[in-house]
Amino acid sequence: MQPLSRLEKLYEGKAKSVYTTADPERLILHFRNDTSAFDGLRIEQLARKGRVNNLFNDFIMRKLEEQGVATQRVALLSDEESVVKRLEMIPIECVVRNIATGSLVKRLGVTDGMDLIPPTFEFFLKNDALHDPMVNDYHIRSFGWASDSEIAAMKETSLRINTILSKRFKEAGMLLVDYKLEFGRFHGELLLGDEFSPDGCRLWDIDTRKKLDKDRFRQGLGGVVEAYEEVAHRLGVPNI
Ligand code: 5GP
Repeated sequence: MQPLSRLEKLYEGKAKSVYTTADPERLILHFRNDTSAFDGLRIEQLARKGRVNNLFNDFIMRKLEEQGVATQRVALLSDEESVVKRLEMIPIECVVRNIATGSLVKRLGVTDGMDLIPPTFEFFLKNDALHDPMVNDYHIRSFGWASDSEIAAMKETSLRINTILSKRFKEAGMLLVDYKLEFGRFHGELLLGDEFSPDGCRLWDIDTRKKLDKDRFRQGLGGVVEAYEEVAHRLGVPNI
């Protein structure tokens, strides 16, 4: 079978573009070098970022699939492109936190860096204009963004992913501080969509607590892509 190629651009996100293909059930994700923060207010090009995020995301999605998590992953297409199932996305971000930092600390005034036992879970509405406000199960139901069973599955799967990935990162000398996931529907089944990369999670070195994720960009610390590549090396992502 011929590998799929891009037909039309369907959507351009802040760091990825999405293309249709000859197969109506498959899309191509193009991971770009664009790096954005503060709801797209600051955007910069960081060389090699598209490549490292694409290879990293593919590796994580494969590991999750191996552990029984259903994802949109189909195949790696090139250094910066992946083929995925075409999902009907749920406009909700699922955030799991193992350590308090970021918006949680701003909102609740809790100590930055404190362990969260058990881990905590939050839903946010995907809406840049509104700065992704936090929403609860009732909002999601009342506005018809997802059903009861989808809400339950998003929580359950997000926390199962936490068990799988926290262990893997720990073995590679890193703390999985927090992360954001998005889900979508495919023939009635809920699949993990979007991406898992250092753009959408926080990873700290286990000994020094050095930030190895997008906070390096948000906080102007430099060495952003170098940190992403270090994370990928430590995890054993091939071809980095
Ligand atoms: P916070 O709510 O503290 O800003 O973010 C919690 C976690 O979710 C962080 O790992 C952050 O990178 C991720 N996250 C939250 N919202 C977004 C978003 O809109 N885009 C991306 N890429 N990550 C997000």
